[in-house]
Amino acid sequence: MTTVIDCHCHVGRGRDYEQMPEQLLHDMDTWRIDSAIVCPVDRHIAVDNREGNDYVLQLAKLYPDRLIPFATANPWYESGAVREVRRALAEGARGIKLHPALQGFLLCDEIVYPLIEVAEAHCVPVYIHTGTPAYSQPMQLAELALRFPRVDFIMGHMGSTDFWLDALPAAFESSNIYVDTSWSLPHKVERALAALGPDRVLFGSDTPLSSLELELGCINALSLNEEEHDRVLGRNMLRLLQKVA
Ligand SMILES: [Zn+2]
Repeated sequence: MTTVIDCHCHVGRGRDYEQMPEQLLHDMDTWRIDSAIVCPVDRHIAVDNREGNDYVLQLAKLYPDRLIPFATANPWYESGAVREVRRALAEGARGIKLHPALQGFLLCDEIVYPLIEVAEAHCVPVYIHTGTPAYSQPMQLAELALRFPRVDFIMGHMGSTDFWLDALPAAFESSNIYVDTSWSLPHKVERALAALGPDRVLFGSDTPLSSLELELGCINALSLNEEEHDRVLGRNMLRLLQKVA
């Protein structure tokens, strides 16, 4: 049976959105999602990093089979950000989430390098929101990924709506980039599969900003064979999580 992992969603009370864990778990049951990667919400990503990280870490302890925590830190906190991400990884975080637009840094700025070095040292993947100019564009991610070839990067939303034409050429540049399907129409995911193969495409929902119904519907609209289906829906993400330091 296919193990289904949602590679990206948010939990907590943010400024612009909120999702309580009970709601997420209920929706996961409805749509048969085995586990989900949970990231902090907007204000926790931008400012109150520790509060958001503690929240997802605590939820993962309550629901260890269902929720997989990713930690965040704003690179502008510099050594404080490095300390916070190291602390969260030591306490069980399985990856790092960055949002250049919310955190106010350009993805091609070296301010982010120390956090990527932490990911490299701990062998954990880095999920980066993309599609918001000028902060987080796919080509900037390609540059970062080429600079850190041993780190696995997940291109959040595959360039979203404004930069999806850049997403596949950027991922093609660097084999350590994986693409997240959230906010994609089926033909965009089809093109990603054709260009990158079935190993580098990851199902993600970005709930509560999108919905499992919509995002799973996109994947189900594709005519995937069993192997591709298994990989995109969970096996690829599982592989990224199982790399060991
Ligand atoms: Zn998100």
